[in-house]
Amino acid sequence: MTYAPTPPTDGGCRTAPVLKERGQREVFCGLTGIIWLHRKMQDAFFLVVGSRTCAHLLQSAAGVMIFAEPRFATAILEEGDLAGLKDAQDELDAQVDRLLARRPDIKQLFLVGSCPSEVIKLDLAKAAERLTLAHGPSVRVLNFSGSGIETTFTEGEDACLASMVPVLPETDARQLVVVGALPDVVEDQMLGLLSGLGIDTVRCLPTRTAADELSVGPNTVFALTQPFLGETHAALERRHARHLPAPFPYGEEGTTAWLAAIAAEFGVDAETFAAVTDAPRARARAAVSQASEALRGKSVFFMPDSQMEIPLARFLARECGMQPIEVGQPYIHDALHGPDLDLLPAGPQISEGQDVDKQLDRARAARPDLTVCGLGLANPLEAEGLTTKWAIELVFTPVHFYEQAGDLAGLFSRPVRRRNILGLEAAE
Ligand code: SF4
Repeated sequence: MTYAPTPPTDGGCRTAPVLKERGQREVFCGLTGIIWLHRKMQDAFFLVVGSRTCAHLLQSAAGVMIFAEPRFATAILEEGDLAGLKDAQDELDAQVDRLLARRPDIKQLFLVGSCPSEVIKLDLAKAAERLTLAHGPSVRVLNFSGSGIETTFTEGEDACLASMVPVLPETDARQLVVVGALPDVVEDQMLGLLSGLGIDTVRCLPTRTAADELSVGPNTVFALTQPFLGETHAALERRHARHLPAPFPYGEEGTTAWLAAIAAEFGVDAETFAAVTDAPRARARAAVSQASEALRGKSVFFMPDSQMEIPLARFLARECGMQPIEVGQPYIHDALHGPDLDLLPAGPQISEGQDVDKQLDRARAARPDLTVCGLGLANPLEAEGLTTKWAIELVFTPVHFYEQAGDLAGLFSRPVRRRNILGLEAAE
């Protein structure tokens, strides 16, 4: 059964040669994931066990949010802990006792590893077990690493979600689990579309609160909404859940293909699929076409940052008329990124990993109309006359599914339009 024929590509990029590079990297560590995860999980607290550097990173990345009694903090390792003079485990227990006594609203506590806690080999897994015994069942304590040694940017979310999978209760129920932290309003839109298709046993990982029901088992199928969830994918497969491979739900086409993969699994008929998706598809197409006017015919270069690069390049190439020159991703995972690579028109250099100086040389030589990169590279490249889009905004802004497709195109067209306006003003 075909729900929505996708236009053929010229073979796509799945088998294209990949340029693999290792060297100097310009990326965030996984601690940044806490910024959006704590907003999603309303009764969770993230306690980073790290240094003042980690606390500064969180403060600067979270910006004004630090004034709103956020649900994250850093337990700072002092000289005595690092030198082994004090028992860091005892100190941690005391900190957690104080925190939980003061904040009875906390139902899930994540101990988040950092570079310093890893270097001194502080066993946070053992601490989480011990603290779960001490504070359970009202509080569940888990741990994951957000360190720069182990994780890059969005991998922090992946590590967090993967840490939750082994402790989920077992079920035999036939159900769909949608994986990835989406803003509540976007999640509600997605649940509305799936319910329209008649798929009602849908659960989300992460859940909004610890009390929300979520279990997993051999009759669970799961769909990913974010392309950076490789570890969570593996953890769910270890629980015998089955992945539904699909392009990621960015843009009209990506959303339709994502829904179609689920519809095929649940035997939804083509009429129902059309009845549910035709109107929002038309709305999304109109919004994208308007928002992408400034992008048509322009070239784009992706630096590796969030693992969202391949699906976004597919969206920009197919729906916004852009020409990707290079699409760099920190990691490429065929089970996750293959369907998007199939749809990405042949032509761009696909690269994995980074040697930042070499990649900057390629970008300078290509002079792309738009470069998608992290904050550390954006202003220097702007100063060299290149137009840039900060990748971090793509993670913080609602960009998934039909109703956000126009906004997603708008995120890319804004810097191009701004450059045009500034160029005109300068010429006057
Ligand atoms: S976890 Fe590592 S990379 Fe991240 S802020 Fe702390 S020290 Fe820096």
